[in-house]
Amino acid sequence: MPGATASVDGLTAIFNKRYLTHRLAEEMRRALDDVSSVSVFIFDLDNFKHYNDRNGHVAGDRLLQRLARLVQENVRKDTTVARYGGEEFLVIFPGTKRAQALAAAENIRQAIAAHEFPFGFDQPLGFVSISGGVASFPEDGAGTAELIRAADAALYQCKRSGRNRVLAFESRDRFEA
Ligand code: GH3
Ligand code: MG
Ligand code: MG
Repeated sequence: MPGATASVDGLTAIFNKRYLTHRLAEEMRRALDDVSSVSVFIFDLDNFKHYNDRNGHVAGDRLLQRLARLVQENVRKDTTVARYGGEEFLVIFPGTKRAQALAAAENIRQAIAAHEFPFGFDQPLGFVSISGGVASFPEDGAGTAELIRAADAALYQCKRSGRNRVLAFESRDRFEA
């Protein structure tokens, strides 16, 4: 878990974007050295505006806190979980190829969908859910920005096709997103 405040998100107490970007660059260098892989999973809460509108911003903040903790509880110790933006999170799976990362991402999605968050029943799908995309280095991007963009393109496909799902990046996503 995070320690230094400069690396930690104030609301959720998980790592922030600043730390995440630095850590991802480091894991990519390591993957190059080891002729190995690293995968990222970016996810975004589904219909979070609806949640805020129904239950208030304070309840929305609390949901983000609970969700961050739940994700931490559902990953291995070597996995980095960070808050990437308002309601967007990014997970780094070091030394992990696409298929294995997609399975870990699916595990996170299921844990969230199955968790009984306050007022989850009032969400459009009847529960709190996420959509997310997985991308892997070196195949899907040569640098941190490109890799995250690839994961984001897969996330966008999930939003387009109904939400509450995760997908791995496919090169055609680059042209559709
Ligand atoms: P989609 O399924 O397409 O992602 O829909 P959405 O409603 O989640 O997406 P949208 O981008 O329309 O809304 C995101 C919302 O997240 C709007 C913004 O107020 C809320 N949000 C962002 N950061 C925070 C935060 O720190 N706390 C709370 N309570 N809400 C936040
Ligand atoms: Mg968003
Ligand atoms: Mg959203």
